[in-house]
Amino acid sequence: MKRMKLVRSAAGLSAALVLLVTSIVGCSNKPAVNEPTTAAETTTEAPSEEGGTFEGTAQGFGGDVTAKVTVSGKEITALEFVAEGETPAIGGAALEAIQKEVLKKQTTEVDVIAGATVTSKAAVEAINAALVLAGIDPSSLVAVAGTDSLEEIKTEADIVVIGGGGAGMTAAITAKQAGLDVVILEKTGMIGGNTTKATGGMNAAETHFQKEQGIEDTVALFIEDTMTGGKNINNIELVTTMAENSADAIEWLESIGAPLPKVSFSGGASVARIHAPEDGSGVGNYLVAVFDETLKELEIPVYLNTKATEIIMKDGAATGVKVTRADGEHTINAKAVILATGGFGANEEMYTKYREELKGFVTTNTPGATGDGIVMAEAIGANLVDIEQIQIHPTVEQTTSIMVTEGVRGDGAILVNQGGKRFVNEMETRDVVSANVIAQEGGYAYIIFDHQLRENLKATESYVKAGIVEEGETIEALAEKINIDPSVLSETLGIWNEAVTAKTDGEFDRKTGMEHDLTTGPYYAIKIAPGVHHTMGGVEINTSGEVISAEGNVIQGLFAAGEVTGGIHGANRIGGNAVADIVVFGHIAGKSAADSVK
Ligand code: ADP
Repeated sequence: MKRMKLVRSAAGLSAALVLLVTSIVGCSNKPAVNEPTTAAETTTEAPSEEGGTFEGTAQGFGGDVTAKVTVSGKEITALEFVAEGETPAIGGAALEAIQKEVLKKQTTEVDVIAGATVTSKAAVEAINAALVLAGIDPSSLVAVAGTDSLEEIKTEADIVVIGGGGAGMTAAITAKQAGLDVVILEKTGMIGGNTTKATGGMNAAETHFQKEQGIEDTVALFIEDTMTGGKNINNIELVTTMAENSADAIEWLESIGAPLPKVSFSGGASVARIHAPEDGSGVGNYLVAVFDETLKELEIPVYLNTKATEIIMKDGAATGVKVTRADGEHTINAKAVILATGGFGANEEMYTKYREELKGFVTTNTPGATGDGIVMAEAIGANLVDIEQIQIHPTVEQTTSIMVTEGVRGDGAILVNQGGKRFVNEMETRDVVSANVIAQEGGYAYIIFDHQLRENLKATESYVKAGIVEEGETIEALAEKINIDPSVLSETLGIWNEAVTAKTDGEFDRKTGMEHDLTTGPYYAIKIAPGVHHTMGGVEINTSGEVISAEGNVIQGLFAAGEVTGGIHGANRIGGNAVADIVVFGHIAGKSAADSVK
């Protein structure tokens, strides 16, 4: 696992002081003061012997993170965060982890949570700012002795699940519900993996939600759409299993408190089939939060910062896992092992091994997606399928790796190159749009949208907050900001808006995402280029989630589910099928592993 120590430098501290100027809202040993105090005043304040509650604020991933720190002398007795812009599963989990660490260690020198670096750093900066206000120099706080010790790890379990993403958590919950003793190993500091990045929803056919909403769909059509999307190289048996079990998977999610009632259209599906949470929140964060609750209710141990390094084999069967963590190496013996380590979209060395031309591409993946499970499984003789099938997403902001959702184009945005011209039907499939972006000079493009689109699509606010959006009151002003000839961009928008009115795109034959023209200022641009998004290939499994060897035999005791496996998505995964895959096959792997142990 890759973790970074926060460095408390003098510069960091002065940054914290600067923050105080705008962020102090009060301290409770005096009545709360609502007007800002100056930095000079706060630095001269003496340590508060009797204590109080102090607030500090710093810029997080999706907005401000405010820390409310209660101190008594130099002791931090309570800590709370207010961070409305953070997602519960990523930012919220990171804040919870940092809160625990700071209270336990009594210092702000804590590790940044992988996958939530910005939020973690903001949390620490906000606490430091509050401490300075309390008259405490954060760098003078020393960790309480012995607080670095880790929770003792179990050395025996019925089933060990490697990976705490959607597939691993589904498998663990299923196996535990079947009455078995299960543990989860997660190499990063938080659960969720790439699952937290899933925004759309889960594809499922013949569900009661569809029936209630009068949507006619069939398992056969789901299979056909998935095969077409995957260019027909998918393993049709696995696809059939996914489609046939999808409606039950939706009901299983409901049974644990995660209904997905909102059904809509999504790319590659011939009917409304993608199921999403009622309130429009991203499906990944929503599911991870419910899985997390369920793990706690069922008392399934989750060992964070614990990396599996090897699958232990005895007489041809998997009998445990070797792990490494801060306190050294351990062995966990088990009757079955479930691999749910996700894909390898965050491992450039690995994806360029299979696809050299992806060198230098950024990734949309979380840091844990390094393909460990594929390497571990291959080492004990597992077969790999479709390993070179890697999906790139066409619209990724390159300095932050933020993926600009297809919804922006779907709602009417266009792509232009540095010359200010459109170059593709923006609604083409991911591979076609990506190839066309790469073909432009510099290999990048700009997504252009207007204020009406921003108002209609919630997702755009997070891009604005992340600081990746250029803005201009007029098209010409926007063009100046991004160094495009204003007259050319203005002409391009003019032609496009006429096409929208006429419902005919004479240039690139775009047919969808043409409900709104781009005529309401201010205008916006995000510079994008393709990024690695999903690795379709991986470990071969059968329809029971058992891992298959290079010789074509079942490897006893070893199961796999989710992005670590290959075959389901073929050459191209369609939106909504990643979640269908992790829930259906996570469930199957958990059940099969439980059956094998019983
Ligand atoms: P899926 O969608 O298939 O569930 P995710 O990417 O959501 O995949 O989750 C996979 C999880 O596995 C991530 O949280 C990742 O950090 C974790 N992981 C990857 N390699 C290891 C490893 N060697 N040991 C423990 N956990 C791992």
